[in-house]
Amino acid sequence: MNYISTRNRSITATAAEAIAQGISEEGGLFVPDCFPTLDGEDFKALCALDYIGRAKTILKPFLNDFTEEEIAHCVEGAYTGSFENEAPAPLVKMAEGAYVLELWHGPTCAFKDLALQLLPYLLVTSAGKTAGGKKTVILVATSGDTGKAALEGFCDVPNTEIIVFYPSQGVSTMQKLQMASQKGENVHVFGIHGNFDDAQTGVKAIFTDPAVKAALAANNMQFSSANSINWGRLAPQIVYYVSAYCDLLNRGEDLQNGFNVVVPTGNFGNILAAYYAKKMGVPIAKLICASNANKVLTDFIETGIYDRNRDFYTTISPSMDILISSNLERMLFELSGGDDKQVAACQAQLAKTGRFEISPEVKAKMDEIFWGGFCDDNATRDTIARTFTEKGYLCDTHTAVAVNVYEQYRQATGDSRPCVIASTASPYKFADSVLTAVGQKKADSEFDKVRLLSELTHTSIPAPIAALENAHVRFKEICEKDQMASAVFAALQITPD
Ligand SMILES: *Cc1c(COP(=O)(O)O)cnc(C)c1O
Repeated sequence: MNYISTRNRSITATAAEAIAQGISEEGGLFVPDCFPTLDGEDFKALCALDYIGRAKTILKPFLNDFTEEEIAHCVEGAYTGSFENEAPAPLVKMAEGAYVLELWHGPTCAFKDLALQLLPYLLVTSAGKTAGGKKTVILVATSGDTGKAALEGFCDVPNTEIIVFYPSQGVSTMQKLQMASQKGENVHVFGIHGNFDDAQTGVKAIFTDPAVKAALAANNMQFSSANSINWGRLAPQIVYYVSAYCDLLNRGEDLQNGFNVVVPTGNFGNILAAYYAKKMGVPIAKLICASNANKVLTDFIETGIYDRNRDFYTTISPSMDILISSNLERMLFELSGGDDKQVAACQAQLAKTGRFEISPEVKAKMDEIFWGGFCDDNATRDTIARTFTEKGYLCDTHTAVAVNVYEQYRQATGDSRPCVIASTASPYKFADSVLTAVGQKKADSEFDKVRLLSELTHTSIPAPIAALENAHVRFKEICEKDQMASAVFAALQITPD
């Protein structure tokens, strides 16, 4: 297996090169040129392993230039001791045939920990093979959760610096506090006046600016990305969908007709990982893409037209407040049968006009695989309340969007196959909105809300959230969106030529 660019198949890379670079030089994303497949015997073997064992087996073919020892070092380092109860991705039964894949038992209480605990290991190993001793500078644009998970993963990792930009008005109080209080000598955090798309566009521009790259090279540094454009973010996410299938098998669920997966979606990374698991042989029937009021993906799945020219809404599920889903590019590559010219044309159209339309053939393929739905903030709150009172399950705002769209899907189609709902954050990370949803508004401070939520729902406060109450705020700087490059130079203490 090798990696190729979605916009130019003749650009190839090994796993280490793809991970160390983050993005292909012409702006395309790295994808494997073929996928390993798993058969009944393979799944049987995986069923008998714990998460770490499953991760090593599943990741091996994707890390084509890593040794077995390197893979073991990376996977064990990432998943030993960093997740509550040593269970990175437990599958919890919510109702008959409906399972919640809880991906938020890591250090930052959101699913991005699953990838970002592992990525630093993959990246340092990759840079050791390819970068010749250069320092790796991680640039991150975040809608809230990636930033903290990346900061936590890269904190004091030797020979790396990490710089995070977040929309100063677009993240929850808890998310902001988590990032602003991050420890570590190599970490830098900036708010920006703008939304997530502004942050992401700014980071992409810095990444591909030849002058900035040259300045870094002159100082023996090179950029990489911890956003889900980096293949090293996606591969670890495939693992938990395969693992969830093993857990369903171990529970004796009837999977004759496969099962469905619902994913609350923003940048399309998480649901893409589920698609890759399906491609590898996991019997996933439908991939259900759940959006909030920023329903650019719901419309795309319905019409085949992607159009970001629309109002942007700030919602109570902020990690999904995204109008440019960067990983959709990898999906288009898949749906078009690996047609790099078509992908490049669509992306050029998107950059120029904010819109593109896929061909009828590609649309037909998409219809076979995906179903899309959305819900607004009121429906999200209503779903949190109902799911708690009727099923005794407390979910966060993002997971609630997925639960709501799952209900819509069942109503619309009558499909009653078993279903795995990806749960992407702890309800305590969005305590304010969750508390309002379950009918309480009285507490003043964020941490009073956290305590009230715990009392009211008889669930326990995750330790990383409790620890934030007395955390020292280190980072308060907010910059303009056209000042991001200067912020990078200042953080790295280097000057442009
Ligand atoms: C990042 C995030 C999402 C969206 O995931 P994508 O991979 O960007 O689609 C959903 N929920 C939460 C809590 C997140 O942090």
